[in-house]
Amino acid sequence: MPLPRAPDHGIPVRPDTLDTGTLSLYIQREMNARPEGWQAGEMLTMKKEAEQLGEIIRRSRRIVFFSGAGVSTGSGIPDFRSSAGLFAKEENGLSPEMILSRSFFYLHPEEFFDFYRKHMLYPDAVPNAVHRYLFELEKRDKLRGIVTQNIDGLHKQAGNIRVYELHGNVHENYCMECNASYPPEKILRSSGIPRCDCGGVIRPNIVLYGEPLEKYVCIGARREITNADTLIIAGTSLAVEPAASFTEDFRGKNLVIINREPTPADSRASLLIREDVTELFQLLSGLGTEGSPAS
Ligand SMILES: [Zn+2]
Repeated sequence: MPLPRAPDHGIPVRPDTLDTGTLSLYIQREMNARPEGWQAGEMLTMKKEAEQLGEIIRRSRRIVFFSGAGVSTGSGIPDFRSSAGLFAKEENGLSPEMILSRSFFYLHPEEFFDFYRKHMLYPDAVPNAVHRYLFELEKRDKLRGIVTQNIDGLHKQAGNIRVYELHGNVHENYCMECNASYPPEKILRSSGIPRCDCGGVIRPNIVLYGEPLEKYVCIGARREITNADTLIIAGTSLAVEPAASFTEDFRGKNLVIINREPTPADSRASLLIREDVTELFQLLSGLGTEGSPAS
């Protein structure tokens, strides 16, 4: 949808920057501009997709869920590749991938932690409809595991136990000298380079670009994907390696892909849903026995 034009000066604006009066005018005009039945049609399609997904889940016994940034946006955590990416480029000409790399961390720790505090920590974020649904699935022994590229820890916060965090977790932080552990607030409330009582640098237990993934996490994740009868890939464009190649181990029956953008695995999908993951799972949760993981 193109950005609306402000009535007075014709410059594109974001709806969230409009005052209430202008915003209601904007909404009214957008609704008028849509073909009749647009909203109803859109919802109907998504409901059908949610029903199809619910049916696959109902028939599956060993589901693995592979999640990316699109699963966390519903909890207010932006995909740093799009939002912070633009910001970082404007600010100092560096991409987030460069800042979040091993070499940048060692060469420019102060700038690293400035960026990290601003863009990687969301202490108020809570699990959304997707996380809650997956917790129900695990309780009913239908979900074998969650393999995630996300570092926000929301799957564990929702209660899931079998979570393979390929890129680590911002909730775990440790002193690089004495290994003492610290909560994320320690980094958030510090300025400059966060230090342990012993003087060592405290770093988050996340995998930086240029660092290898944890071996035991990889082995567990690959084992679950290989043994799954259904693999649901959600909220990721499968652009980050080696994590993305894990999905190629899948040999089961149903490959479900839920993502707004195309992915390299689309041609292999048995169900391809181009919707927002959270909206879809909100619908799925509301389907009653049909979409309920209990059935
Ligand atoms: Zn220490």
